[in-house]
Amino acid sequence: MKYNRILLKLSGEALMGEKNYGIDSNRLQQYAHEIKKVKDLGVEVAIVIGGGNIFRGVQAEKTGIDRVQGDYMGMLATLINAMALQSALEQDGMYTRLMSGIKVESVCEPFIRRRAIRHLEKGRIVIFGAGIGNPYFTTDSTASLRAIEIEADVVLKGTRVDGVYTADPEKDKNAKKYSTLSFQEAYQKNLNIMDMTAFTLCQENNLPIVVFDMNKSGNLEKIIAGEEIGTLITSN
Ligand code: UDP
Repeated sequence: MKYNRILLKLSGEALMGEKNYGIDSNRLQQYAHEIKKVKDLGVEVAIVIGGGNIFRGVQAEKTGIDRVQGDYMGMLATLINAMALQSALEQDGMYTRLMSGIKVESVCEPFIRRRAIRHLEKGRIVIFGAGIGNPYFTTDSTASLRAIEIEADVVLKGTRVDGVYTADPEKDKNAKKYSTLSFQEAYQKNLNIMDMTAFTLCQENNLPIVVFDMNKSGNLEKIIAGEEIGTLITSN
């Protein structure tokens, strides 16, 4: 196996499937099956999930809600997704723990680094909900930070597109996909892979990122097996 401990980042929007809002239960089940395949290989899996399908802090400002308040609302949105995912994983027979960046004691554990690592060692899937617990951050930054903290081998960013392109492939048909990229190159070419905070954290800590299409069955497993799926961003 190429990676033994992974941090899988799923966007909230991906959970919508064909819907305009909320959670598509088929998509949720599909993700659970994909995750189970790699879990069965013995990979230690941690997951960060976004909240964009429910609420984003920046949107709040437009509706007159204070930004910080909106960000906390966004964090709670990620927790809703995390709970839904936890449930889907458990229905598929996996053991899970949900850890939150803000205290929600009746629902889940607070994030404690050593405890998270212990859960992973025991074969539990750890989901990090509520981001890092601070406003003005994103779940991409959460993914980078938590991955570093738990010493994951890689951040796997599951998206709707199959990697990083020279231009937006949904708009430009001449856009070409990169199979590998260095952090430096991605930065110089202004390729939007993650927000800068998230990106810099990975770069400074030599943590590789793979951007890949999570909706294509088998992709996650192939990445673990070392196949060239999506775009790999590394230090060299
Ligand atoms: N958020 C935050 N701090 C964090 C993580 C998330 O304030 O550490 C808020 C922020 O408002 C963000 C929202 O939660 O817009 C939902 O997360 P994100 O936009 O990253 O979700 P995604 O785009 O992955 O669906």
